[in-house]
Amino acid sequence: MMDLNLPVEKLKNVGARNLPRLHKLGIKTLRDLLWHLPARYEDYSKIIPIADLIFEQKATIQGTVVKIDSRRIFPRRLVIIEAIIEDDSGSIKAVWFNQPYIATTLTEGTRVSLAGTVKLDKRGLYLASPSYEKLRSDDYLAYHLTHTHGLIPVYPETEGISSKYLRFLIKPILTELDIADHLSEESRTRNGLIGLTTALQKIHYPLTLTEADQAKERLAFDDLLLFQIKALLERRKINQLKSQSIPFDKELVTDFIKRLPFELTKDQKMAAWEILKDLEKPYPMNRLMEGDVGSGKTVVALIAAIQVAQSRLPAGRQGYQTVFMAPTEVLAHQHMETIRKLVAHTNIEIGLLTSSTTWTTYSLGRKTEIKRRIANGDTKIIIGTHALIQKDVTFNNLALVVIDEQHRFGVAQRAALVKNKELVPHLLSMTATPIPRTLALTIYGDLDISIIKEKPKNRQKIITRIVPPSGRQEAHQFIRSEVKAGRQVFVICPRIEVSVTGDPTSAPGPGTSPGGPPASGSPSTTGSKAKSPETSTNPRTKAGQQMKFLLADMKAVQEEYKKLSELVFPDLKVAMLHGRMKPKEKTDIMARFKEGFADILVSTSVIEVGVDIPNATVMMIENADHFGLAQLHQFRGRIGRGEHQSTCLLFTSGASSSQVLPGKISEDKKTSNQRLKALVATDDGFLLAEKDMAIRGPGEFFGTGQSGLPDLAMAALANVELIKKSRAEARLILTTDQNLTNHPELKQQLLRFQSIIHFE
Ligand code: ADP
Ligand code: MG
Repeated sequence: MMDLNLPVEKLKNVGARNLPRLHKLGIKTLRDLLWHLPARYEDYSKIIPIADLIFEQKATIQGTVVKIDSRRIFPRRLVIIEAIIEDDSGSIKAVWFNQPYIATTLTEGTRVSLAGTVKLDKRGLYLASPSYEKLRSDDYLAYHLTHTHGLIPVYPETEGISSKYLRFLIKPILTELDIADHLSEESRTRNGLIGLTTALQKIHYPLTLTEADQAKERLAFDDLLLFQIKALLERRKINQLKSQSIPFDKELVTDFIKRLPFELTKDQKMAAWEILKDLEKPYPMNRLMEGDVGSGKTVVALIAAIQVAQSRLPAGRQGYQTVFMAPTEVLAHQHMETIRKLVAHTNIEIGLLTSSTTWTTYSLGRKTEIKRRIANGDTKIIIGTHALIQKDVTFNNLALVVIDEQHRFGVAQRAALVKNKELVPHLLSMTATPIPRTLALTIYGDLDISIIKEKPKNRQKIITRIVPPSGRQEAHQFIRSEVKAGRQVFVICPRIEVSVTGDPTSAPGPGTSPGGPPASGSPSTTGSKAKSPETSTNPRTKAGQQMKFLLADMKAVQEEYKKLSELVFPDLKVAMLHGRMKPKEKTDIMARFKEGFADILVSTSVIEVGVDIPNATVMMIENADHFGLAQLHQFRGRIGRGEHQSTCLLFTSGASSSQVLPGKISEDKKTSNQRLKALVATDDGFLLAEKDMAIRGPGEFFGTGQSGLPDLAMAALANVELIKKSRAEARLILTTDQNLTNHPELKQQLLRFQSIIHFE
């Protein structure tokens, strides 16, 4: 049996020179090599009679070398090899450059298989630098050639490591592959999967594309299975920890709900019930609440916080604490505002704690005083920014942590917030990014999920329009008329190219952002793009990147601001907001915009998440085709929060000549149009997320680096059946074999997998 952990340098054909190059491709062991999967296949499956070859055709021919010569051309030091190949139908020339050894390998009379492109010169058709391999007499017309016949794998390559070399390494191993399959025969049959050995053979050398697909399905299943097992184990671990059990007090909760100034939607009630049930358990809740912008998540979390605040402590004193963590100051303020109003009739003390403001509903005192009220347990609901709370606050009987727009908050992070380390606070994390169900089941398999789909009844439907460059005038008139009617307008512009150190590298534009669910924080509010795998390892790059984004933000906004305030709307009040401002500045501007000090607010994506300005009725997005669908939907969610009809205007590129957009994001026009049309067609965030994923593919949608999912598994996220099967299989395996003692191969892979992906 082969040892998959065998270092590649132990393989026959790996020399000292190639070893570092293989390492660069991530290939260190035999396993890595076998799992270095083709990116695509070159189709050389048909052998074409030479007489039938046509210009520009990619073809495989098989025949005999009847003549071969090498010529040297001075002064260019070029060696040209020319061979004449003949089959039953005719003959053709093959030409290679600077590979003199070919003349000694393919001597006259040798039978060869050649694959390449048919070219034309003065003297007729010829094959330009074809791949070649000798045919032994017994496999003339055989299918199992390595380079020239059949579906030939093309691999991710690196300097010095060509697909040809990889084929040369991998092919011989495949023919004598001898490895164990960690899935039993029974389980393979149950899930309709082919064996591991076959899968590896067929993914590298399929006879047909259908075979390649079957192989991919099997290997993707393996990755998904590990992900699911990992999630289930994570859950099991969490269920063994202790939390304060908060009994559900029906009377208290119904009374609170009755006093709300609106009726809860069915989905809100359902989510609240799920959360209250979780709180009763003596182990930590680990729940993600997904709901579109404006779906009313805060009040649901608040219901839980009320229950927590009014439940009895063992000592007889009332109430446990809840902390709400927001990614930005603006959002922390907004939570404070929403919550304060909704609990006005109770005597529950609420505190706000950000770097610019601290107060509680019982004290406007200094920061130290507020912190003391929190530490002695007077303040029951504490609202603040992630950063501040994690480093600065001592709680008193903290039982629930509510987090906005950060999906993962580890058990260790939670435990760090409490003095009594035996009790881990319950976690409710909230996100306005709808995550397609299959993705959620896979990537957040360790979380329970509550989904709020239904919008509150009083919500207006937002009109969404795509504005072509010719419609700009009219759109400006429309904006003017809205302002005249007393409404306010958001203008969003994407980043523009900016150079920080005089180096003209462009900052990635928003179009390159996944626009999908952020793994932590929000990409646009925290600049967490800098967390992408290639930059996070280097703090200097990270800081540099972040700086560049912020500068790019500022520049875009400043230009748009100038244009709008001086040229387009000189008679209106225009304000601006960008990523380089201090949190306090941003909060102030948002607060003043809300009070109506400006008609138009020009901003980058910093206003993306959660800000509530009911009087704003127009969302105008510049270069809308450069944003992801999910992100556009988020922007649109900023409006339509009040009683007035709201409109979202999507300006398409080319419309604004003042902006230079980074070249690399100029993606397929059709795709971006598809996105904008989808946005016009529906306001259902979940539907849009599914569409976004379908249009861009799961990898692009989520970003492979963020999920930790290997490419194959990522691609398989479109396959709901496969995901369900992998989940069921994971359950089955763990119920019969708790510690994977009988699945040593799985156990080992799990450890490997865990060291690659970091969950928290
Ligand atoms: P999000 O889910 O985006 O965080 P919020 O919780 O901020 O949404 O709610 C947006 C606004 O809608 C708040 O002012 C909130 O009080 C209000 N709201 C919440 N639920 C309802 C409802 N069922 N009916 C009417 N208004 C509601
Ligand atoms: Mg919110």
